[in-house]
Amino acid sequence: MKALNLKNGTLTLSNDHLVSQLSYGEVLLQVHLAGICGTDLALLNGYASFNGVPGHEFVAEVFETGAGVDGGLKGKRVVAEINQWCGECDQCAQKHYRHCLNRLVIGIRGHQGCFAEQIVVKANTLHIIPDSIDDRQTVFIEPLAAAFRIVEQLRLHDYRDVMLVGAGRLGQLIARVMVLQKKQLTVVVRHARQRQLLQGLRLDCIDELAVEAKMVDVAIDATGQQSGLMLALQALRPQGICVMKSSYPAPAEIDLTKLVIDEIELIGSRCGPFSMAIEALKNGLIETESLIDATFLINDFQVAFALAQQKGSMKVLIKPY
Ligand SMILES: [Zn+2]
Ligand SMILES: [Zn+2]
Repeated sequence: MKALNLKNGTLTLSNDHLVSQLSYGEVLLQVHLAGICGTDLALLNGYASFNGVPGHEFVAEVFETGAGVDGGLKGKRVVAEINQWCGECDQCAQKHYRHCLNRLVIGIRGHQGCFAEQIVVKANTLHIIPDSIDDRQTVFIEPLAAAFRIVEQLRLHDYRDVMLVGAGRLGQLIARVMVLQKKQLTVVVRHARQRQLLQGLRLDCIDELAVEAKMVDVAIDATGQQSGLMLALQALRPQGICVMKSSYPAPAEIDLTKLVIDEIELIGSRCGPFSMAIEALKNGLIETESLIDATFLINDFQVAFALAQQKGSMKVLIKPY
C-alpha cells in the first residue's frame, strides 16, 4: 500500500506500507483525498519530532470495522477527529476530548497520518459526511473546525469588532467564519492574492502599516509569527481579547506589564468542533473551492509539497490512488 513516510525531515514514498491490525473500537479507512496543512510543512522542518506517515486533513470511506464497532458504518464517507482520545483520563471524563491527557494526534503525535491509501482510527472519533458536502470541501473540515474554535471561545464575551492578522491557509478560513458572526471585521493582508480571495466577503482588508493602536475589541493572530502577535496586541483596545491561533517557532518577547495595565485577555486556540464545521458547509455558509490550488497523485508528492511551500500558496490536495 502506498504512503508517504517522514523520517528525520525527509519525505519519501513507500509502496509497501502496512497498516496496523484493527484493535477493539477501531476502523480501517480508505482515504479519498487529503490536504497539505501548514503543520505538515512544519513537520518537515522538525516540528513535533514526528516520524511516520504525516497528514491529518482528509476524507475517507469506512473499509473495515473492528470488534465493538457498528458494522453499518462500512461504506460511509467520513472524517476523523485529529485528536484520538483515550476515553479514560480526567479530561475525557469531563468530555474535554480535544485535551485528552493521553491523546494521539493523527499524523503529528504517535499516530499514522492520512497521506496513505488507508488509515486506522478510532470509530468514536468519526463524523459521517452528508452527500451534499463533496470530497473537495470535506478536506477543509479539520482546519475549519479550528477556525470555529474561536467562535466557541468568544461565545461568552461581549465585543463589537474584530481584527484578523494573517490571511494565509488558516486565516482565509477564520475570515470566512468570523464574517458569519456579523461583527465589524478587518483583515490584515500581506499579498494581493490574499486580498483577492477575500473579495465579496463583508470585511475590510488593510495593509499592516495601516494598523493603529487601540482599534478593536478582539484581535486574532493567525500569522504563525511573533510579529503578527505583536500587531494583534497593538490593535487592541483596553480590556481587549487576543486570540492566538499560531504555534510560534520560538518563545515570544512580550511587554507583560502593558497587558496587565490594559487588562488584556490572551486566549490560546487550537483544535475545534467538527460538528460546527460540517453544519456550516452543509448550509452553504463557507466557500472553500477558491482556496484549492491543485490536486496531485501521491506519486507526485514532491511537486505537491514544493507548491504548498511556495509563498502565498493555499491548499494543495493529494489523492492516494
Ligand atoms: Zn491542519
Ligand atoms: Zn483521555
